[in-house]
Amino acid sequence: MTSLPRGAWQDVARATGLLSPTGTSTADVASTIFAEMSALAAATGAINLGQGFPDVDGPGYVKAAAIAAIEGDHNQYPPGPGIPELRRAVTDHQARHYGLDVDPDTEVLVTTGATEALAATVLALAGPGDEVITLEPFYDSYAAVIALAGATHVPVALAPTDAGFRLDVEALRAAASDRTRLILLNTPHNPTGTVLTRAELEAVAVVAREHDALVVTDEVYEHLTFDGAVHVPVATLPGMAERTLTISSSGKTFSLTGWKIGWVHGPAALVTAVRTVKQFLTYVSGAPFQPAIARALADDETPRRLAASLAARRDLLCAGLEAAGFDVVVPRGTYFVVADGARVIERVAGLPDGADGAELCRRLPALAGVAAIPLTAFCREGSPTHAALRTSVRFTFVKREDVLREAAARLGALGS
Ligand SMILES: *Cc1c(COP(=O)(O)O)cnc(C)c1O
Repeated sequence: MTSLPRGAWQDVARATGLLSPTGTSTADVASTIFAEMSALAAATGAINLGQGFPDVDGPGYVKAAAIAAIEGDHNQYPPGPGIPELRRAVTDHQARHYGLDVDPDTEVLVTTGATEALAATVLALAGPGDEVITLEPFYDSYAAVIALAGATHVPVALAPTDAGFRLDVEALRAAASDRTRLILLNTPHNPTGTVLTRAELEAVAVVAREHDALVVTDEVYEHLTFDGAVHVPVATLPGMAERTLTISSSGKTFSLTGWKIGWVHGPAALVTAVRTVKQFLTYVSGAPFQPAIARALADDETPRRLAASLAARRDLLCAGLEAAGFDVVVPRGTYFVVADGARVIERVAGLPDGADGAELCRRLPALAGVAAIPLTAFCREGSPTHAALRTSVRFTFVKREDVLREAAARLGALGS
């Protein structure tokens, strides 16, 4: 090859750890650990508890609504901000659940999943010289879009404690400065399953106000909380609606992750800025899915049942992990549990001394017939959190109970 393609892909690949600082070629780009573990699971017949997508689809009546929309007249470009019924369904949902007063005409934008909402928001509002604070561990797309925007990513630890993973408020205060443009939150949090408390969110609000930063909050697991844990949208805190962009999506709530209907809402001026970018990413998408999700959003029973069943499935998997010798941090929300595999690594034959979670994950399909993702995939290389979580592993429990029973039994064999 005579010339190598240069471009933003290099910034994205470096920010996500897929390209070393010295790598320059597309041939040097590693595959993600998600792809590697899914391929390994497929090759070995292991139960794939790596990637988090449900193995049971959302409600039939929502699918039927999409089919009817295709057979009807929802097959051309929908309006740029999203169809009015869906924008209204989003604002009704925010009013009903959280008492938020959002204008469906000026303060909501329908997006191609939460992923596009996040990308368009960060690209619209942060640039070179700006800093974007995220929690660490973080969802992998955050580092990528911050790099695409040319901004600087400043991760702040969610530290493992007896009360689960908790925000290190001192570290947040120390990380923030007048260069902080955005504080990007995620609650309930992937991968840790933490539900941020009102006190933690109040601490974030104080820091945001002090440095005149905006808050962007990814709430795609808003309905998937357990044990009475209450999801608090940061926009409901006094004075925060005016500086917050709230992002969510129907994918996790209604077990329809492939439909990619998401949204962002916030002050009209900020939503206009985000729409200006979104317009040239996808313009619009999901015409027949938008009316179907508008109907689904009126349904509070489906997500409530999903949360209850997920809590039971969490318990099943956590018991299996504990029997296998993992130290589990019990999650209060999401699809995921983080388990420290340090004791398993010590005991398992064939793993080198000082092996990490990635090495454990590469061996787990052969050892136990189960695939998972190391927590370091959600951390910045070299950060204190990366070091603290080097032997931790993420498992998903959004699989059928019989699948989880089998996984728990297989894992249990590791412990004996
Ligand atoms: C799944 C997920 C997303 C992506 O949502 P889509 O609507 O599928 O784009 C965003 N953030 C977090 C934390 C997720 O787990």
